[in-house]
Amino acid sequence: MKITDIKTFLMAAGVSQEQGSSSWSRRNWCFVKVYTDEGIVGIGEGSGWPRVVQTALEDLRTIVVGEDPMNIERIWQKMLVTTMGNGMTGTPGSGAMNAIDMALWDIKGKALNTPVWNLLGGKMRDRIRAYGHAGTPEKALHLVDKYGLKALKTGGVHRTADNVEALRKAVGDDVDLMVDAHGPPWHSTKDAIIVGKSLEQFNLLFYEDPVPPDNVEALRRVQDNVDIPIAAGERHSHIWGVRRLIEEEIVDVIQPDTGRIGGISQMMKLSAMAEAHFISVAPHSGSLGPIAEYAAIHILAAIPNALILERLHDDVPARYDVVPEIPTVDGFIEVPDAPGLGVDIDEDVVAANPSEGNTSTPGEEGDGNYEPGTWNEHVYVQTRYSRQANLRGGG
Ligand SMILES: [Mg+2]
Repeated sequence: MKITDIKTFLMAAGVSQEQGSSSWSRRNWCFVKVYTDEGIVGIGEGSGWPRVVQTALEDLRTIVVGEDPMNIERIWQKMLVTTMGNGMTGTPGSGAMNAIDMALWDIKGKALNTPVWNLLGGKMRDRIRAYGHAGTPEKALHLVDKYGLKALKTGGVHRTADNVEALRKAVGDDVDLMVDAHGPPWHSTKDAIIVGKSLEQFNLLFYEDPVPPDNVEALRRVQDNVDIPIAAGERHSHIWGVRRLIEEEIVDVIQPDTGRIGGISQMMKLSAMAEAHFISVAPHSGSLGPIAEYAAIHILAAIPNALILERLHDDVPARYDVVPEIPTVDGFIEVPDAPGLGVDIDEDVVAANPSEGNTSTPGEEGDGNYEPGTWNEHVYVQTRYSRQANLRGGG
């Protein structure tokens, strides 16, 4: 079999607000189809700035056309070496490689008439536990009622303990709760520890990105001082991006983004690295599209150290138009049994949703996270004010 062409599909997913954040995000999804001379077509997705990933994918066409798609590792290494002049370990390059790699696993599954999870070692489980995003008790109760979720995450660092206390009172002790601080640059290590200590009483499943993700030493200090499992890893690419987090056991939960870590191949290597350190895997979703989510389901079906899958329930309408939804039922997602990834995109839906941009916009004035009057400076990097008001909480 030979690869004959690749085609990219960039679409505007919609505009949404990250839970607990004041930023509005203009989301895009970039899919790729890899065509072969035997008529088998593979589907993949690349994240990490999708509009740029699309251009990177166009550049990779000459690298992959003519290759036998069954030789996934050979093609992956060829892509890495050929693009290393652009820098080897960052997104969006890893997002483009991710999309190709994912499509190759899809092709292999279709060629062998078996699901991707079977190629990865077979099933550890038939269904994947999912968690949702809830910033208020009302939203939490809605998600528990509608999807049977038994795990919910809230975000931000503004009166976090107050927020978690309200959620805990609403949903009781049988629902796992998590906090994602989103690692804002102004969140000092001391404050991350103070917030973390105020959250210990709630027995969280994990405390995510308490400090900026590139500050590994700061993350270690949080790990050493806060008695909650620490989670991180969504913004890194390739196994080298998360190597220290795993090898030095700085995290308890590793959260690779299935769209930009570098593909299913990298996810499997990362999972094995994590297994050796008794670290569990909880893939990041967030802005990620539905093809990458399918890939995550196959991976989590096969690896022993799968913890849980992030999922945007009640997401933008496009998610449920561009691919068939696998519903969350009783808090779990059923693992698909069709050959390959078992999913395809509706190309008409992609065409009907052209991408117009890929940036976040500042939050609204006086939204509580930042001092009124300063919101139109970049909300993410500016120094936080009202420290007492922000950190207060916990009863
Ligand atoms: Mg996160």
